[in-house]
Amino acid sequence: MARPALDVPTTMQAAVLYGPGDIRVVERPVPQPASGEVLVKVAMCGACGTDLKIFDGHFPQTPPYGAFTPGHEWTGTVVACGETVDEFAVNDRVCIEAHSGCGRCDNCLIGRYTACLNYANAAKGHRASGMTADGGFAEYALHNAKALYRIPPSVTFEDAVLITTAGTGLYGLDVAGGYIAGQDVVIFGPGPVGLMTLQLCKQLAAARVILVGTRESRLELGRRLGADHTINAREVDPVRAILDLTGGQGVDMAIEASGGAQAPQHCAEVTKRAGRIVVVAYYEDKVSVDLSAIVRKDITVYTSRGEGGNNVKRAVALAAAGRLRGAELVTHRFPLQDIGKAFQTMRERDAGTVKVVVTP
Ligand SMILES: [Zn+2]
Ligand SMILES: [Zn+2]
Repeated sequence: MARPALDVPTTMQAAVLYGPGDIRVVERPVPQPASGEVLVKVAMCGACGTDLKIFDGHFPQTPPYGAFTPGHEWTGTVVACGETVDEFAVNDRVCIEAHSGCGRCDNCLIGRYTACLNYANAAKGHRASGMTADGGFAEYALHNAKALYRIPPSVTFEDAVLITTAGTGLYGLDVAGGYIAGQDVVIFGPGPVGLMTLQLCKQLAAARVILVGTRESRLELGRRLGADHTINAREVDPVRAILDLTGGQGVDMAIEASGGAQAPQHCAEVTKRAGRIVVVAYYEDKVSVDLSAIVRKDITVYTSRGEGGNNVKRAVALAAAGRLRGAELVTHRFPLQDIGKAFQTMRERDAGTVKVVVTP
């Protein structure tokens, strides 16, 4: 027996991808939560670069055109719980991790569920919301109970919509060993991942956090969020500037969140001997990097995908303690009907755009 639900309509408005660049808001049935699933009334859903790839038809393993609602950074209120769900109750406010592993493959068994070996295999229990299954550009969305996190009243939906993003940064730090207290960190890329990771590094007591970008408005936001130094790579050579700031030694950790073709090589040049590089970005093309220099300097390179390792739970705790600000990154809000405009705004990358959200 499903648990008591709020008054949920049978149909809803949802954005459906009909082909590359063709997204339409149509009426679809409201899904019913099966065992272990939760139905959420979406408050808002963030759009990111991955959505543009999905929108353009360049993302693998999405469901067929005409039957798929994207959106993987959403938050909202629980309206119904499927059988066996006692972790949540109707009216709980929740945020999500996009990836929900199958729970039965080798990687899931060791906690690496964002690298689930049954990726996109819904029959085996895998779901990546908004990537391999319907997501949050809709009035209602389903997710597995294990991929939801309750948020306290003090955390607004604007803050919560960035918690999934913060989970990505925190997972990267986690994979790289966690401790950064007292260390100098450089972050390439003041996008949402970079700006959330910057705050996390400050909260984890990094000595100095240096933020490198090309858009002054984002660097300014970075300073407001705690960056000790910002470097505009259009104005100065970032490698020179970072080496100057660190007495020629380089930083203890470089975090690559920009996806810029030059950034991995810059990381190699600004990381000190025996330092760490963490890559949490995707690239347009293959990138070229002096691997011999990385070996000579005894640098360890880590990569991580998505918001794994239960790090969204940690991000919720930081947000609940007032130590993680998401709302300040939200620069544009669009109603669901205008989702096309939301994607267009992201693509144009005008100066003031940081996080674009869509509200059903
Ligand atoms: Zn995203
Ligand atoms: Zn798995």
